[in-house]
Amino acid sequence: MRDLLHETADLAADFLESLPARPVFPAVDLDALRARLGGPVPGGPTEPGEVVAELAAAGGEAAVGMAGGRYFGFVIGGALPAALAADWLTSAWDQNAGLYVGGPAASVVEEVAGAWLAELLELPRARSFAFVTGTQMAHATALAAARNHVLEREGWDVEREGLTGAPPIRVLAGVKAHSTLYRALRLIGLGTASVVPVAVDDQGRMRPDALREALAARDGPAIVCAQAGEVNTGAFDPFAPIADAAEDAGAWLHVDGAFGLWAAASPRFAHLVEGAERADSWSVDAHKWLNVPYDSGVVLCAHPEAHRRAMGVQAEYLVHADEGGPRDQLDWTPEFSRRARGFAVYAAIRSLGRSGIAALIERCCDHAARFARELPATGAEVLNEVVLNQVLFRYETDERTAEILRRVQESGKAWMSGTVWQERQAIRLSVSNWQTSDEDVARTVAAFAAAAR
Ligand SMILES: *Cc1c(COP(=O)(O)O)cnc(C)c1O
Repeated sequence: MRDLLHETADLAADFLESLPARPVFPAVDLDALRARLGGPVPGGPTEPGEVVAELAAAGGEAAVGMAGGRYFGFVIGGALPAALAADWLTSAWDQNAGLYVGGPAASVVEEVAGAWLAELLELPRARSFAFVTGTQMAHATALAAARNHVLEREGWDVEREGLTGAPPIRVLAGVKAHSTLYRALRLIGLGTASVVPVAVDDQGRMRPDALREALAARDGPAIVCAQAGEVNTGAFDPFAPIADAAEDAGAWLHVDGAFGLWAAASPRFAHLVEGAERADSWSVDAHKWLNVPYDSGVVLCAHPEAHRRAMGVQAEYLVHADEGGPRDQLDWTPEFSRRARGFAVYAAIRSLGRSGIAALIERCCDHAARFARELPATGAEVLNEVVLNQVLFRYETDERTAEILRRVQESGKAWMSGTVWQERQAIRLSVSNWQTSDEDVARTVAAFAAAAR
């Protein structure tokens, strides 16, 4: 075992060290990759060292350089050294972190890391939390708690009765709400037709006057979903007036802060999330801007009773911790058996500390600002107010924009994706990796200049 783990550590380090020199997006021949990795079910055993070496060779060649400094696609992040190492330990320990008795250290570390996160994100109202796979499941968990809470006030026990015959719930969300919000609503039985779309401004920010108007249009249980960090522009909904409107209407306020909520951890950017601390629930990713390996998201909630009523589970054969005793994570998560994903989050926070996290956020935002300053010299028009780490831009025509993006992607020098913004082709770039350096930004701008020429 020891030799295998050492060899594997070397393979992993080799891969990471190869990133600066290799194309960010590898040349992949899909058929060849399938042939190399596939075939019939192995008839018998293979030496573990051979399995890992072959996987490292074939898989590593086809791996995208997301862990490196010139991957700007979607909103991805990287893996901090301490977080990656803690993730390895998590697998070696192989705890089932559903119950305290499934791993006391996993339970205590999640307790500690959850409290740290509430503090770092300046959320004094957050009184319960859960480590889940990502913002997708953080939304599902938060909205299940919201559903429980708003229906409980109508005298309806949704955990027992379900939604059939329940008072209808309205969900008010900006038209630029993330697609995972809609899927979370489908998962908890509210359906996408329960959404009342609220108008947004040219940056994708929800308009509080439109929200007020929509809330006033009807009585009954309501959930408002606001957003910290629109995926194209990085824009923040104006939380203070949104919180006022939700409060006046007695609505639950949920915040999708997948990456944007991290602004709260930086003194320079905290003003962007002012008012978000008044919400009832929050979703945030650790695998994006905290640079923890996949998969790692967090839900925080101001109503532990509703959260636990929505997620708690009991069974005769389980050994539950006493009330007021240690934490049984499965009472707060949608999973039963689960990975001890708190260890990597804990390690990330410990290794960076408050100042290191603020520096990570600010460095990424400074790089984004530099992109916005330098890309116009390549002929690009920057389309968004670069308030955070997202840069949205285009060239003279849709065709030219698509062609320049394709050339940059194929150059292997950097990778980012396209999008459609206000019905026109655009390029979106997200700086969210701890490794991105000034040189990475310069090389990427140069790649755009070359493609534009
Ligand atoms: C990434 C993202 C999500 C989805 O998060 P996952 O961790 O991929 O489930 C939701 N909302 C926003 C704004 C995001 O950026």
